[in-house]
Amino acid sequence: MSAPAPTVRTRFAPSPTGSMHIGGMRTALFNWLHARHHREHGAGGTFVLRVDDTDRARNLDEALGPILDAFRWLGLDWDEGPEVGGPHGPYFQSERTEIYATALDKLLAAGLAYKDFDSRERVAADRDAAQKAGTPYVTVRRSLELSDTERERLEADGTPFVVRFLVPRGETVAIDDAVRDRVEWDTSLLPDPVIARQDGSVLYNFATTVDDAAMAITDVIRAEEHLSNTPVQVLLARALGHEPPRYAHIPFVTAPGTTKKLSKRDIGKYRNNPVFKKMFERADEIFPQIGLDVTDAVSPVMVAYYESIGYRPAAVINALGRLGWSLDDKTEIFSLGDLVRDFTLDRVVKNPAGLDPDKLFNFQSHWMNETPRDEKVSLCGAFLEKAKIAFDADFLGRLIDAMGDRLKLAADILDVAYFFADEIEYDPKAFKKRVAKAGVPEHLRAFTDERLASLADADWTPARLEAELTSFSEAAEKSPGLLIHALRVATTGAAVGPGVYDCLDLVGREKSLARVDAALANAADA
Ligand code: GLU
Repeated sequence: MSAPAPTVRTRFAPSPTGSMHIGGMRTALFNWLHARHHREHGAGGTFVLRVDDTDRARNLDEALGPILDAFRWLGLDWDEGPEVGGPHGPYFQSERTEIYATALDKLLAAGLAYKDFDSRERVAADRDAAQKAGTPYVTVRRSLELSDTERERLEADGTPFVVRFLVPRGETVAIDDAVRDRVEWDTSLLPDPVIARQDGSVLYNFATTVDDAAMAITDVIRAEEHLSNTPVQVLLARALGHEPPRYAHIPFVTAPGTTKKLSKRDIGKYRNNPVFKKMFERADEIFPQIGLDVTDAVSPVMVAYYESIGYRPAAVINALGRLGWSLDDKTEIFSLGDLVRDFTLDRVVKNPAGLDPDKLFNFQSHWMNETPRDEKVSLCGAFLEKAKIAFDADFLGRLIDAMGDRLKLAADILDVAYFFADEIEYDPKAFKKRVAKAGVPEHLRAFTDERLASLADADWTPARLEAELTSFSEAAEKSPGLLIHALRVATTGAAVGPGVYDCLDLVGREKSLARVDAALANAADA
């Protein structure tokens, strides 16, 4: 009989920085999916959110807020962590000082860690010497040679020290990484890492290992840049008497069209990245209308950008799920539920995964179309409110119907905000080309007088308007395009927008007729 499959516990451990990076969110999602997959299709799974705030952010709420907001917006909950607590808390590293102190004492008492009194300069000189000699640098361990009396004297004198982990030399540390397969390190090549400062504050590798063990984490899924920390964490876990977790080091996310890691530091450069450029430009159009600035925290590198400009969470989830993971070579569309069902770590690729905003936009089209009408009304309504545009919800619903799949982002509603204005402004180029053009005013006048003016309110429907325009154009032996374009510009001012019959319907009979008159008067003056 085989043993029951163990339950899975994953964790995402962000350092609170005041924003949520899209690559970090992908790591979080993979952790979440792995736990949920095991909960729903395996023996059980728990997702832990831990806050790596040993650097003590000056204002934790400000630093952590955007991270929790990103989780909430995407609909990713956490089973243990901030706000919800749990049996393995506290979940803030800044509140776990005593736990670290106890673990540190344990290692020191067992001789598995030591106080190193060598100055920073001395250690740097050792490193230089090793480099000159062409040998790998390992810690010289002078402090281990001190007698008890010497050590006590140094401590009594207040000589600064750090605590280093005593790496057992001459061993091989190996992991069977779920993504990278077997990875091995020769411990003789590893310097003794500093695990605590003199004031007792601990460093990343130590705090993480203590917490992963204390929180019973079974699977560490994190960015591949942490692979180099892994041998130390494995050795530390064993020194503390724990079996190390399983690891999955996932490939980094590259900036669109490049092989370089998507980085917050390069945001300035991304404005010139041909693919990213469009996203910045769209934000430049939208954000000023809703009182937002394009800042580093609301750039396309950050989750907040997508929420701020009206992406659907499902589109972002779909794109993040496909960043370095696939089910097969054809399935692109995944809901969160699909991902929970299908996600397994063995299908994570080893190569870097490129963020592809065009693909993300396609996911957005799909998920926007899947969005129920009521929800679209409230999403678009929120943008109108932010832009301080008064609207009637029924009318907004009709406008959204008329836009059909032209409505991609919720913010696109601002492009047709002229439907909410009493006065329209003509797009000057379009007016010249479509209305004030030889032959058009007469044609439009005749159509309006002979057909539109005599339509009753009840007949003012898109279908009837289309029938009238088509038959009138046929009788006049003119392309229907002439009237279509002229009417759109005359009644909305804009060159593009919903279909012209929907425009006339939305603007209404009376206003449409008045606007045609005004446009024709304008054309006569031009
Ligand atoms: N706080 C670390 C980071 O943000 C966590 C790394 C880990 O998952 O071990 O990179």
